[in-house]
Amino acid sequence: MHLCADHFCLGVEKRVRRRIREDNLLPDDATPENPETWVIGLSGGKDSVVLTDILYDTFDADPRVELVALSIHEGIEGYRDKSLDASKELTADLEMRHEVVSYADEFDIRMDEVVEDDPENMSACAYCGVFRRDILSRYAAELHADKLLTGHNLDDEAETALMNFLEGDITKISQQFDASLGPFEGSESRVTRGDSEGFIPRAKPLRDIPEKEVALYAHLRDLPAHITECPHADEAYRGEIQRLLYDLEERHPGTRHSIMAGYEELAALAATEHRSESTSFDECEQCGSPTSGSLCRKCGLLDALEAV
Ligand code: SF4
Repeated sequence: MHLCADHFCLGVEKRVRRRIREDNLLPDDATPENPETWVIGLSGGKDSVVLTDILYDTFDADPRVELVALSIHEGIEGYRDKSLDASKELTADLEMRHEVVSYADEFDIRMDEVVEDDPENMSACAYCGVFRRDILSRYAAELHADKLLTGHNLDDEAETALMNFLEGDITKISQQFDASLGPFEGSESRVTRGDSEGFIPRAKPLRDIPEKEVALYAHLRDLPAHITECPHADEAYRGEIQRLLYDLEERHPGTRHSIMAGYEELAALAATEHRSESTSFDECEQCGSPTSGSLCRKCGLLDALEAV
């Protein structure tokens, strides 16, 4: 379609709001007296900046929703400082509550050092993802979040779907449905997500919007997004899938959307089938986080780093 800037932006906002409505992110029992608290993972990249801006436009005047931005500093020289500046600029503009936490304060580590020590011989992102998930969940609980919202776009989601599918891990697919993909109770969908016990439910309202459209929206709205790659980004397999999807989309437009439409249905079926045998979680003996063993992954990694 050939759209002017205003109609393009309206089209993006409309699809995000439709996704929020269809997934029933805002339940009927949310009231001005008992509002929902939504914590937004704000990295300062284009996706999370666009998500924050659209959520603010949509819900700032709605007393049933309270928005809080949460940013994480991983300790990556020359990268995170700039995106944190972009995040702070945005939340200052919007006068939105904004919490900033760092790996240094939380775990006494910096990602630059983790990459050098590398006790588990893993990629930087494998460490970083574990630490980030831990902070997001803990702070979301501390802020009494009802939901944790992240800026994953259509490309991110189609890549993850394809990677999960190629791994052949149906349990993982069913857990993803309950944790971050499925619609909430009260939506019109046939299957809604189950309880993800001990975890704050996640949602991705940008997941219908292709990455290029998110970038164009940030540009047209002149949002303070920081667009640089992390120097430790090394998810080689995701990179392969990304290129594959890019090629497919070029030759067969609509591929990402059709992957997601089919994947959501499959994930819903997998969730209904696997829920009955779902695992119950113990508490990590060091930090109390839910875990299937005696020690959660984060504490295991921190112990390994300390031993270096
Ligand atoms: Fe962390 Fe990897 Fe993201 Fe860099 S690209 S911030 S190392 S998860």
